[in-house]
Amino acid sequence: MNSAERPRCSRRGLLAAAAALPVSAVAALCAGDSRGTPDGARYFPRHGSYGHRTLAYDLSLAYDPGRAWLEGRARIQAVARERTRRIELDLSRLAVHGARLDGQPVAVRREGGKVVLTAPRPLAPGRQLEVEVRYGGRPAPLASPFGSIGWDRTGDEHGGTLVASQPLGAPTWFPCNDRPDDKAAYTVSVTVPRGHHALANGTLRECREDGGSVRWTYHHPGPMSTYLAAVYTGRFTHDTQQHEVAGTLRNAYPPHLAEHARHDLARQPRMLEHFARLFGPYPFESYGAVVVDAELGAPVENQTLSVFGRNHVDGRRGWETLVAHEIAHQWFGNSVGLADWRHIWLNEGFATYAEWLWSEHLGEDDADTLARQAWQELAGRRQNLRIADPGSRRLFDDRVYVRGACALHALRLELGDEAFFAVLRGWHAAHRGGSADTDAFLAHAGRTAGRGVEPILLPWLYDKRLPALPDADDAGA
Ligand SMILES: [Zn+2]
Repeated sequence: MNSAERPRCSRRGLLAAAAALPVSAVAALCAGDSRGTPDGARYFPRHGSYGHRTLAYDLSLAYDPGRAWLEGRARIQAVARERTRRIELDLSRLAVHGARLDGQPVAVRREGGKVVLTAPRPLAPGRQLEVEVRYGGRPAPLASPFGSIGWDRTGDEHGGTLVASQPLGAPTWFPCNDRPDDKAAYTVSVTVPRGHHALANGTLRECREDGGSVRWTYHHPGPMSTYLAAVYTGRFTHDTQQHEVAGTLRNAYPPHLAEHARHDLARQPRMLEHFARLFGPYPFESYGAVVVDAELGAPVENQTLSVFGRNHVDGRRGWETLVAHEIAHQWFGNSVGLADWRHIWLNEGFATYAEWLWSEHLGEDDADTLARQAWQELAGRRQNLRIADPGSRRLFDDRVYVRGACALHALRLELGDEAFFAVLRGWHAAHRGGSADTDAFLAHAGRTAGRGVEPILLPWLYDKRLPALPDADDAGA
């Protein structure tokens, strides 16, 4: 398993992963982008459906690590958005055993990466429905322009598994409406052999042993995008504490990595407290990090449960900027999600700027110093990317991250700290639990600042040429 090439939330090594992918695989994912279908404005129109919106997923999974075999039953509460008999879900590779609509068996067939159910009569717009899909097989990650994504095995001696789905890997382990703006509540129960553990987003509701197996049940009211849902199985050391900002704070690590991981994650409570001061109340009922016994290209900010690889744990906090980055995503990326992947700078620019804010808070390099260093690096690069519309194959180009953070720093210098942080707090407050886009951010920032911010931000977002950073002396002028 080449687990070094994974979906990345951070900017390291991404281009190498894309370059390693066969052209046909890239084309399969990206074809149809921005061309004449009703979904033509979306970056990945083959993922997700506008025929319904999801209210809740209830996933009942059983995983056999000996055979690497997953059996699942998904109960999905949804609402029809248009008059149709066709209900489309995304599910890659796994076999479908049967499906029901409102408790009655219905016709189901595969169409490529889709599971298509046919209702016996047309569904009216606004009608609530319950879909049940029973499925199973040996899950495997999906090759993508962003590395291997989705469900994978860790390769450790216990047969552990991991999920790292960003952006398109969710259908590797459950049938879903795989659009970033289709957010829902999740209940996930995972049955594994006794002695094995399972982790999922949200709060542990129950852990029930039955003969030789144990069922772990979690609930997260969300709302959560499909790509942020995750399950981990294997053997973990768990640390749980109550925290004023995050509610329950829980971390899990392979036992042999626990000492280093505890040290490297020890400042998570301070990060949560600092970011809550800057961005507003923490949006969820819990937070935690899971370290998996595999090498990951980069951590991923699963909602309430960020994942790090064993290569991100060194006992010296060598990756602490990414610990801060994933926490910041809980506000920007997870709570305030994306209307479409093209607006990715709203996730990655904000989380990268949060890395700089954390450094500033520690009394190390301040954000202005880090922004000017980043600007120098950007100035030496090709100027051929519009970060507010980078193209589907360059979603995770490191320039989206760094230039996005520089754009926010330029806004801070022009508005001053008070107005700038009011913009960030207000952005989260206004769109908490929802999905947003770049135009909405420009409008919000302008309203909050009391003046149009387009002259400041548009060159950063839509020009290929790199704008100059304002002088630090101009702050708030
Ligand atoms: Zn990120």
